[in-house]
Amino acid sequence: MTKHRVAALAGVAVLVAACSGPPQQSGPAPTPFPEAAATSSGAAPEGSFSVVATGDVLIHPALTEQAEADGKGKIDYRPLLAGIKPLISGADLGICHLETPLAKQGGPYSGYPSFSAPPEIADAIKDTGYDTCSTSSNHTIDQGAEGVTRTLDKLDNAGIKHTGSARSAAEAAKPLILDVNGVKVAQVSYSFGFNGIKVPAGKPWLANQIDVEDVLAAARKAKQAGAQVVIASLHWGVEYQHDPTAEQRSQAKKILASDDVDLIVGHHAHVVQPFEKIGGKWVAYGLGNSVARHSEPKGDTEEGAAARFRFVRDGDRWKVDKAEYIPTLIKLDAPIRLIDLSTSPKSAQVTKALQDTDKNILSLDADKSGLTRPGR
Ligand SMILES: [Zn+2]
Repeated sequence: MTKHRVAALAGVAVLVAACSGPPQQSGPAPTPFPEAAATSSGAAPEGSFSVVATGDVLIHPALTEQAEADGKGKIDYRPLLAGIKPLISGADLGICHLETPLAKQGGPYSGYPSFSAPPEIADAIKDTGYDTCSTSSNHTIDQGAEGVTRTLDKLDNAGIKHTGSARSAAEAAKPLILDVNGVKVAQVSYSFGFNGIKVPAGKPWLANQIDVEDVLAAARKAKQAGAQVVIASLHWGVEYQHDPTAEQRSQAKKILASDDVDLIVGHHAHVVQPFEKIGGKWVAYGLGNSVARHSEPKGDTEEGAAARFRFVRDGDRWKVDKAEYIPTLIKLDAPIRLIDLSTSPKSAQVTKALQDTDKNILSLDADKSGLTRPGR
């Protein structure tokens, strides 16, 4: 987190420089809210913090082949993710969604339908600047309870916080609360289901399944434990469908009606779904893939989005005063790379991805509620 504070301050320094004269060439600095430079209000308000969340990290075999090529004998996913590192590490809180269980070091690995991904992805997630990952997805128990334990042990080892699956009843019962610039922020994580795999008898705490009452109870527990903000990561929706389902919309409405949940970030569809502001709070229904390489790429499965929210104090509470989306693209032509479209050179491919993502993210008119995209 210290690193993030330093990064955020470096961003502020550049913004100040931009207001008063030519920017100093002092190396790359993430600019969390670049358009703020154009206003007299300048830098982020005192005490505010930023959250960036992204979609599915879904490690198909082709991504591992790329990581092996990049690692020259080792497996190194860092170059694959390097394009979003300034964006993620520039946020005060970086939230990922790790869709698959992790294998033992050295394998065996597997792809769809029963994933077991190289553990090196956790090191790359850390290097990219993420602080925490939601781990409840339809693949969480692909490798049973052992896969859950291996995954969480590796995330611990890599220094990534996690929630959504657990190694014990005690772990599942303990809310995940992070210190973000002195603000206590909790994350809860739930999935619509587990691809028909039954949670083992006697281990109902192994992975969290969406039930509105359970989500709200976990959020309440986090607030009672001192959390000032609760973010719900929900794995839901219908694959390859841009429109949120009636169920997603109804669940979002019920969850955001509670004082105990402040924000919902969603994933699973592998394509981008819209944002919506409900009762003054945001839901990003689906952020698409963060990184994946489907056996049949569909174009829109390569177009994702990062959601970026700035929280400010509002009396006793915290609220989002700035909501943004930053389109991303998985470039599949070798070498496979995930890129941030807000900082990528213009090309026909970039323009098309921006247009597609604008259309999908804004299909519920979230721009009229204040959602913006840097550069749009
Ligand atoms: Zn999924």
